[in-house]
Parts: sequence; C-alpha cells; structure tokens
Amino acid sequence: MVRIKLPGGEEKTFPVDRVPVAEVVEGLGGSWRRDAVAARFGEDVVDLHQDIEGEGEFCVLRVDDAESLRVLRHSASHMLAYAVIELFPDARLAFGPAIEEGFYYDFDVEKPFTPEDLQRIEAKLAELLGTRRPFRREVWDKARAREFFAKKSQKYKLEQIDDLPGNEVSIYHVGDFTDLCAGPHLEDTSRIKHVKVMNAAGAYWRGDSSKAMLQRIYATAFFKKKDLDDHVERMAEAEKRDHRKLGKALDLYDVRDEAGGGLVFWYPKGTVIRETIERYLKDEYIKRGYELVGTPHIAKCELWHTSGHYGYYRDNMYSLDVDGHEFILKPMNCPGHILIYKRKLYSYRELPVRFAEMGTVYRKEFSGTLHGLLRVRGFTQDDAHIFCAPEQLDEEIDRNLDFAIAVLTTHGFDTFKIELSVRDPAKQEKYAGSPEDWEMAERALELAVERRGVEYKRAKGEAVFYGPKIDIKVVDAIGRRWQLSTVQFDFNLPKRFNITYVAKGGERKQVFMVHRALLGSVERFVGILTEHYAGAFPVWLSPVQAVVLPVTTDVAPYAQDVKERLVRAGVRAETDVREEKIGYRIREAEVQKVPYMLIVGKREMESGSVSVRERSRGDRGSCGVEEVASEIVDAARAKR
Ligand SMILES: [Zn+2]
Ligand SMILES: [Zn+2]
Repeated sequence: MVRIKLPGGEEKTFPVDRVPVAEVVEGLGGSWRRDAVAARFGEDVVDLHQDIEGEGEFCVLRVDDAESLRVLRHSASHMLAYAVIELFPDARLAFGPAIEEGFYYDFDVEKPFTPEDLQRIEAKLAELLGTRRPFRREVWDKARAREFFAKKSQKYKLEQIDDLPGNEVSIYHVGDFTDLCAGPHLEDTSRIKHVKVMNAAGAYWRGDSSKAMLQRIYATAFFKKKDLDDHVERMAEAEKRDHRKLGKALDLYDVRDEAGGGLVFWYPKGTVIRETIERYLKDEYIKRGYELVGTPHIAKCELWHTSGHYGYYRDNMYSLDVDGHEFILKPMNCPGHILIYKRKLYSYRELPVRFAEMGTVYRKEFSGTLHGLLRVRGFTQDDAHIFCAPEQLDEEIDRNLDFAIAVLTTHGFDTFKIELSVRDPAKQEKYAGSPEDWEMAERALELAVERRGVEYKRAKGEAVFYGPKIDIKVVDAIGRRWQLSTVQFDFNLPKRFNITYVAKGGERKQVFMVHRALLGSVERFVGILTEHYAGAFPVWLSPVQAVVLPVTTDVAPYAQDVKERLVRAGVRAETDVREEKIGYRIREAEVQKVPYMLIVGKREMESGSVSVRERSRGDRGSCGVEEVASEIVDAARAKR
C-alpha cells in the first residue's frame, strides 16, 4: 500500500505497491497536472516518470518552487550533452549535474572547446529545443546498460555504472539521446526555453589531477526570461569583481606557482586588511569572555587516532615523517584546544571556558578544485571552542549567534539566511550522544534563532553524526549567497577525549563542547569581501585610507608634511609624488580604490589645507588637515 499526506493534511492511500507520480498528481484534479514540474515525496524530489512506494508527505512542485529549478537545469544538461554529441559524435560523457548557478556537463574531447564551438553548441541546443521532446525513463539491469554504453565507447558511464549500488540503473531518453541518470527530469523539453551556454573550462575527471582532463561546459537555464537576463547581468558583474583579478590589481594577495596551488601569499596591503579584521576579532574575543590560545601546526598521529580524524578524515590530511614517527599537519584546531582544556580539572564555577585561536590548518584538496582564496589548501580559521555545562547551553548559543551577527554586520553584510541542521529522530542510532543531549542542544539552537525573530530553515536529517549546528549564510552586494558562520555541537570529541568538569555535587560530568567559526576562513572571507565591495573597501579596512597628491613637484615637500601629520593622527596615508600629470595620478588612486584623495597645490600650501576628493562623493573642496584626519580616524573607529 502507498500512503501519502498532502500539504493540507489530507491523506490518500493507494491499495498497490507502487504508484506512478503522474497518476497521483492527476488525482489531485484542478490545474495540478498542468502546472506540475515534479513532486516532493518525503525528502526526495521525484519526477512524473517515476513511481513512489511506502509512505510520506507528498507535494507537487511548480515553476516557482526552488527545487523545480534544479529539475529544469538538470534536464537542460541532458539537452546540452545531446547537442554536443550531435556536433562531436566522439565526445565521451562524464557528469552533468545542476549546480547553484546553473548546470554543467563534462566531456572528454580531443581539443578544448573554442568560443566558436560554444556558439555552435548553443545554436544546436536551440535547434533541438525547437521541438517538444518527451523525456522517457527506463530501468535497465546493469548488464544491459554496460552493453549499451560499451557499444558507444562511453567509458566514464561504464565507471559510473560500476560505482552505483544494486543491480539496476535508471536511464533517461530524450530524442536520440540516452543517458545514465537517477533523475529527476521534466516531462518534456517544452519548459526549457531560457538557456544560455556560459563558458568552458578544464576539469579533471572526479576532480582528481591524476585523472583525465575533461572539458566542462557551464550553462544555465531559467523558467523565465527575466530571471535569465538578471543572471547574465549578475555574472558579468561577478566577473568584474573577481577577487583573483582584484587581488593582483590592488596588490593585496595572490597564489604563486613557485609555491604551489591553494597556498596564499599576503602582500603588504592585503596583510593590512587581514590584520585589521583579526585585531577587531581579537578585541571582541576579550570583550566577550574568550581566552586566546595557540596550538602547534603538527602533532603525532596518535592524537588524530584519539580524535577519530585518522579514521574518517584521513584522505584530507597531510602526513609527515618526523624522526620516523608519523605526524599530521593539523586539518582542525579542536584536538589542540581539548588538550589545553585537559591540562587541569575545571569546576562548574569556572565554566564556560572559551578558547579562541586564529588557527591555520591544512587540508588536502584536488588541484582541480582550487579557486583563488575561496578554495585553498592552507587557511586560517577564526576558530573557537566552548566548553560548558548543560545548563549554560542556551545562553552560550544565544551569545554566539549575537556575536556572529555583530561580526557579519560590521563587515557590511545585512542579509542573513540561517539554517539549522538537526537529526532525523527516526535514525537515532547513527548519531553520537544521547537523544536527551540532542534534544537539549537542538532546543538551544532553535531558541536562539527564534528569539531573534529571524527566518530560518530547519533541515531535518542534515546534522552530521556528532551534533546539530547553525549555519549562517550572507547575501553579498550582487545577490550571491556565501556560507560563513557555523556554530556546531559536538557529542563525539568530549567522549573520545573524556573531557569532564566537576559538577555541583562534586561528581565528574562530561562537558558540552561547541565548535564555532564566524568568518569561517580568513582567506575565504577576505576573498568574499573583496568581491562584495568590488575592491572598494570601507575606510576602516582600506589598506591606504588617504593618498596625498601634490599638483606640481614644488609642493611635494608640503605633501610629505601633510602625509606625516595624517600618519601621526592614525591614518594609513601615502603620497604619490611621481612626475606624472595630476589627472593621471588621481585616476590611478581611483583605480586603486583609495577612499580619500587629498590634492595639494600652492593655494593649499599657503593656507595649510588640502583639497578633498572622496572615492564615493567626488570633489568636496578644501579642508584643514587635522579636520580631514579626524574624519578618517572617526570613520575607521566606527568601522565605516
Ligand atoms: Zn539526468
Ligand atoms: Zn573544532
């Protein structure tokens, strides 16, 4: 029997083992059948070609539902592959998933795709989409699928078939194109109208640089033309803001081939930004009752056996030989902080204990996945661990959320998306910690977000095995979402390390432990900030806050004097006394996004003033040196 529960609470039963989704939707009457893109059954998105079995909540997905976009895009990716195969019959197909911004498909082809190739592919795609073509789903046994894809020399598909569990695989046909795929897909191609091929880039098979280099075509699709137009505009804007380009142009930071991928070099100006952020955070730590600690970058492998990382995180860790003993380059700071906690026995009166560290960690990443400062091999977490008693949980979580929002707001973000990852109580056995502890922790997290009256998403079953967490995403200046802060419970490490405290009655109890990082990684955060501000950092973060520009060389000594007075007042100031025209040097300072340009000529020298030009407001006229200095210092102090 199949039993479904509809959003209105109504229940329906079907006296059979499996029902086609299309039939269920049909039975709802009204315009549901016509509007349906796909459906959600329990936790899964299913399409109208599939059957459902068992019981669960059932809801029809229409064009405006978020999950529908993925169905559209993934269907469009099959059409993209169809177009490529029509034009390049020898192309071998890898994966073609929907992603945040659209979809891609990886192809093994002899030569990388040229811009002309992409144009032809886009034209072929449009031609194929000119006809309404149904998607057809079939379930084949693996032997049949292997035979089919072997005949077409699709070796990557054969590898995928071997990796899939069970004896059967699902196949989707559209037109003359057949692909191995779990779905879900649209019913037919009629809704795929607004598609755009974006670009192509090299990508390793399974992201592994020891494997074949494939060509990945990025594309996107939307249900509505306006959404596609907005997206294309946003992508153009994103390209202008690319932090890798701006990092070089503004002389902030870079990754150096000589040293290897994913390892960031902080140049003097970038270091000013980073140091300013870190100093602000450290001041906040002190104000908010944290203690700063420091831990070594390498530690014996035994420590990582105790923490469990050696078992389930080994593929991400770098191992070193030190005097014939295996050491691990730390991928996380937690075991180090636990060792510091364990140096003595804490009493309940001393809790909570909050340890913070700008902790640099190293994690293995495939070279193909590295991306500027956003995806690196070495990075610094603004990491902290809180050790507390159960009755302190609510307040600690509340303070943390407060801290997170304050930090993100200070850096110029004002839109937050909060996600709460909780357990699936039906699968309690897969989680570390008791149901009561989970209950308490989840309630603390929920309470903290609800108290703020902010909207949040509760993701059931999304928690990792060791504890529930809150994730905070911010929305940047061009509408992109970035995951930054995490507040994560841990019921696993306290047990593994047996960390305790002396409770009121004198007995030893296991301490509660919370990991939290507000920026996430400093590298990634500065990369995101660079794009958010398009390099025009607010005054408090600008590496150079003011540049003094003498109109002619004979006032250069006065410019130097003004600069020194600014520096003494606490302003990060420079002069530009090159023998270039003043217009050229102003443009240069604008390109460098310096917030204040202070222009000095004979008149300013005689009256002891400067002529102020602001990055965002243009010329403001003349102003006293001390006056402008205190304006800049005030702005920086107010984190503007
Ligand atoms: Zn598919
Ligand atoms: Zn941790």
